[in-house]
Amino acid sequence: MNADPRTYSLELFPPQTPEGAEKLRAARARLALLRPRFFSVTFGAGGSTRERTLNTVLEIQAEGHRAAPHLSCIGSTPESIRAILDQYRANGIRHLVALRGDLPSGMAQPGTFRYANELVEFIRKETGDWFHIEVAAYPEYHPQAKSPEDDLLAFKRKLDAGANSAITQYFYNLDAYVKFVDACQAAGITAPIVPGIMPIASFANLARFSDNCGAEIPRWMRKKLESYADDRESIRSFGLDVVTQLCERLLAHGAPGLHFYTLNQVSLTSELWRRLRLSG
Ligand code: FAD
Repeated sequence: MNADPRTYSLELFPPQTPEGAEKLRAARARLALLRPRFFSVTFGAGGSTRERTLNTVLEIQAEGHRAAPHLSCIGSTPESIRAILDQYRANGIRHLVALRGDLPSGMAQPGTFRYANELVEFIRKETGDWFHIEVAAYPEYHPQAKSPEDDLLAFKRKLDAGANSAITQYFYNLDAYVKFVDACQAAGITAPIVPGIMPIASFANLARFSDNCGAEIPRWMRKKLESYADDRESIRSFGLDVVTQLCERLLAHGAPGLHFYTLNQVSLTSELWRRLRLSG
């Protein structure tokens, strides 16, 4: 393994069923061979998904790996966040990804904290320097942002509130990241901004995700992916080439690491790591 100081990490989502938990254990055992710096685990809005995040994080930690639970403002109160932070501290978890989250349809109450900066501020006030706090960044801008300038200010507020570093929404336009980092530097932001990387397994799923979260699939990629229709092998091969090249360019540009949205799948992320010769 080399001594690359950059941070390579993997994101998982918590399983919904005992069978899902078993599958995820098997996937994690294989992903752990990549030696990521940490595994992050997403967080949903309902009470039961919260338990699943905690359980998954504790399993990861018991397996000897660093785990970073995500935490969101949705439906939260200072008391509920305090209880979660206490649980994490009691279990030696020192890394969090703090988010606003999105209100699920049918859920009326966003929670006491309206934006992620308020959550970060609360975590710092309650727990001092215990946690390394990551926040989200959007090189192609958050879909609800009033303007790029407003979004940059909102991002800066999260860092000023005490976040240590950021992970971006995924993107396929290198320029979006480069220009976003330039704008951050011009605004005095020095925290590491790690690109989020989405491997490509299926065009339909990717298109749906991208429409929801505001990530752009460039027209040339969309056209190619559409042309493969159900030919999964061609999609896989094209996606691996495109994403490998994006990662190589990001690293050449000085990106401080890469964070892979694994969607609990092993093969694409493993192949990307092999091609990029990464180690955590
Ligand atoms: P914020 O930083 O609060 O920003 C949200 C929007 O509000 C932006 O448009 C911003 O410009 C605007 N804004 C911020 N502050 C203000 C203000 N004071 N006044 C007016 N406007 C303001 N979601 C989950 O539910 N669970 C997860 O586990 C999860 N993990 C994620 C991990 C990563 C790395 C990323 C990039 C996203 C993740 N998400 C997750 C999705 C995220 O919750 C959504 O993108 C959400 O819409 C925004 O969250 P945020 O923390 O970026 O919000």
